[in-house]
Amino acid sequence: MIARLRLRRGRLAAASTGRVTLVGAGPGGADLITVRGASALARADVVVYDRLADPALLDLAPRRAMRIAVGKCKGAGASQDEINALLVHHARRGADVVRLKGGDPFVFGRGSEERDAVEAAGLPCDVVPGLSSSLAAAALVGIPLTHRGVSASFTVVSGHRIADAEHDWDALACSGATIVVLMGATTAAEIAEALLRGGRPADEPVAAVHRAGTADMDVDVFTLERMVLHGCPFPAPTVLIIGPVVAFADHGSRSRSRDVQGGPPVSDRPVVEEVVPGV
Ligand code: SAH
Repeated sequence: MIARLRLRRGRLAAASTGRVTLVGAGPGGADLITVRGASALARADVVVYDRLADPALLDLAPRRAMRIAVGKCKGAGASQDEINALLVHHARRGADVVRLKGGDPFVFGRGSEERDAVEAAGLPCDVVPGLSSSLAAAALVGIPLTHRGVSASFTVVSGHRIADAEHDWDALACSGATIVVLMGATTAAEIAEALLRGGRPADEPVAAVHRAGTADMDVDVFTLERMVLHGCPFPAPTVLIIGPVVAFADHGSRSRSRDVQGGPPVSDRPVVEEVVPGV
């Protein structure tokens, strides 16, 4: 009886320490996590991670920590409700749960939905920001998202569901802002069409940065006109950076020419060719 009582009290004590920390893993490359994010991992009892987070980050968690892959990608992996339930379940049993998410948890990451679910269950939830691919991809290939006299702003948009007219592409085109597109690998041609219709020039440079920050990072630079014809040269995860600032790229040996399906030269004034050595 006494033993059972002790067990119950033990469980309650443990339960009161349960919590969830949403940690931004950064874009890829384990050293691009924040110091705070690394500390959260180092004390975790449970790590729930998805496809975009660098697997090497799991080594920062204690050996005893439970590691749970929820592999979110189109049509596969756990549903959002299942992930929410998993976080609540482990925090409720007293675990220090780290939910590791690619980039920043609150940039196209559904992080706030997870936070709301945890808090609705009466459990504490902290957020540790991460370096979003929307910023990091450009910096990693030497593209300034803003440049004095060239671009004074940038806009981050989702390339998902172009047909639903989620964005006013005409307004985006007119804004003169650098445009950063996430989740646009499969809709790149439609995006380019919309921006050309909105008035962006055919020879406006575009950079596609694939797996930014990882050892497999790849970058290609081309024009909006070529993007209409050939789409994006890489699958997901890829960030598209669109605007004159791309001409300021300094991605040296990482760049490469990609004569997509032998397409014709697309511009009389090859901005891209001027700035990419060896193209
Ligand atoms: N929360 C993430 C974004 C998740 S949405 C962040 O802040 O970075 C998923 C999209 O992010 C991918 O389709 C891709 O467009 C982009 N992305 C994430 N990591 C990337 C990486 N390492 N390289 C290129 N694109 C990346």
